[in-house]
Amino acid sequence: MTHPPSDDPASALPAPPGPGQAVAIRPGLLWVRMPLEGPPWHVNCWLLRDGAGWMLVDAALDRPATRQAWESVIAECLDGLPITRVLVTHFHADHVGLAGWMAERWGAPLLMARTEYLQARLLLLESPATLLSEQAALGEAAGAPADYLRHLLARRPFYRPDVVPLPLHHRRIAAGQVLRVGETAWTLHRGGGHAPEMMLLHDPLGGVLIAADQVLPRISPYVGVFPPEPDADPLADFLDSNNRLLALPAGTLVLPSHGDPFLGLHDRIAVLAAHHAERLALLEAICATPRTAYEASRLMFQRDYDMDQMLFVIGEGLAHLNWLVARGQLVKARGADGVPRYRTPG
Ligand SMILES: [Zn+2]
Repeated sequence: MTHPPSDDPASALPAPPGPGQAVAIRPGLLWVRMPLEGPPWHVNCWLLRDGAGWMLVDAALDRPATRQAWESVIAECLDGLPITRVLVTHFHADHVGLAGWMAERWGAPLLMARTEYLQARLLLLESPATLLSEQAALGEAAGAPADYLRHLLARRPFYRPDVVPLPLHHRRIAAGQVLRVGETAWTLHRGGGHAPEMMLLHDPLGGVLIAADQVLPRISPYVGVFPPEPDADPLADFLDSNNRLLALPAGTLVLPSHGDPFLGLHDRIAVLAAHHAERLALLEAICATPRTAYEASRLMFQRDYDMDQMLFVIGEGLAHLNWLVARGQLVKARGADGVPRYRTPG
């Protein structure tokens, strides 16, 4: 285990741990970083001292190299103590991936919010072919071209290859609860928009927030529409959730799932709000001419994306379009070809 040097004020925030290592954020709170094959290239996981063991927060994607990195963390960084509980912040594969493996290995209970647990179980049970065809149907309704739909249907399946089956029972956690882990009483907060019931852990005495993917330091968390709810308004949920976090002290140390720990929670929330306001204004201007969701999304991002990223371009475009339609700032009407067009009213 490496510790941040304490004699250098510039390094008050620790440098990221290497593969299979852990860095102490403070005594009894360890930071582990696991690799991802695409952006954002890594996911952070946390270990909280839990009496005579450790509670794990998020487990990373299931890959042989990641299992190996966990073996090294377990062997070298946990003082020989067991994992007592496995808490997963939300259902996304890069967070829940190895949680089932960890829970089974240690006989440890799985702690998840109800919606997140059910969503993960549902995605594990659904046939990968159905998940892809539902995503293609969403793209088709957005007016995406045939070559993209073909690419999507032929791609590597979602979710199941990345996630170990979850235990068939869990311990429900929910916003407002206080979760005692060792000496620390963590208050749970709900984050929305990126995932429906993402759990954030706040230690008011220590001034630390485990923020999952709700507030990230450099990238804007993905806020998108998914096939089961095409008319969803996740952007409103995202912005509302962030506004609720403004009740936490501005000096809170934020531990994000992607990127490095940072100070400046309130400033970062303001930057994210401004970013989305800009996107919304841009979309309104784009839709002065009627556009399909596909067209509007591509113009909103103002740069080219490859076929693998198009799913996120369309999903995030739809999130912003739905926000504007719900507030009467855009009108959605079916075109002669059956594909909806979005335009400014009047
Ligand atoms: Zn994530």
